[in-house]
Amino acid sequence: CGIVGYIGANDSKEVLLTGLEKLEYRGYDSAGIAILNEQGMNVFKVKGRIAALREKVDASVMANVGIGHTRWATHGEPSEENAHPHQSATERFTLVHNGVIENYYELRDEYLQNVELKSETDTEIVVQLIEQLYNETNDVLEAFRKGLSLLKGSYGIALIDKENPDLIYVAKNKSPLLVGLGDGFNVVASDAMATLRETNRYVEIEDKEVVLVRADRVEIQKLDGTVVERAEYVAEIDA
Ligand code: GLU
Repeated sequence: CGIVGYIGANDSKEVLLTGLEKLEYRGYDSAGIAILNEQGMNVFKVKGRIAALREKVDASVMANVGIGHTRWATHGEPSEENAHPHQSATERFTLVHNGVIENYYELRDEYLQNVELKSETDTEIVVQLIEQLYNETNDVLEAFRKGLSLLKGSYGIALIDKENPDLIYVAKNKSPLLVGLGDGFNVVASDAMATLRETNRYVEIEDKEVVLVRADRVEIQKLDGTVVERAEYVAEIDA
């Protein structure tokens, strides 16, 4: 039901946890974060409140990139297994998703016959699909684009690749998602409320665009790879 992401010079944990707390008012049944550093991907998930997630997160793990999620279950009961972030079979790709993937059964049957699924969610299909497409193309961006082009339904998505800590892959369709611009960092949020402590400068994302969010720049593309220029705006709300 809510997404937060951070990439930049500082530790991502606090931005993610505080951001998720700011989204609590929207309602949710579970929550989680994934943070990536040189030692690897660290995923923490709980059924229940952000306060419980905060307790579960290992405070000693520092990471310059991460994604977080509050879930309002649509496919699969509220549980730790079904909480986001979800990971691909090899755990190379980690993803959070808001919305509903309507054709997830079809995608599972066509692309994921040989993949053992770890949850009951429509969301896991997306991250597994991207890994399958990556196995075919050897190109993460192409796999991300191709995966998106196969999805029917609504999504706000943020994906991180264990092999590339310099980038968050972001996309949306009929679900809200924004990029917030900072000095030495950038953020992603389903609602500017989540990241107003970090920045009041935002860039809108349109449906079916792909956004490559790095610490020092944000690149928007159409699904066919055409680069899109978009002006930022200042959010006139108080944190
Ligand atoms: N459909 C997804 C799920 O049930 C995402 C729900 C949400 O937007 O929180 O896990």
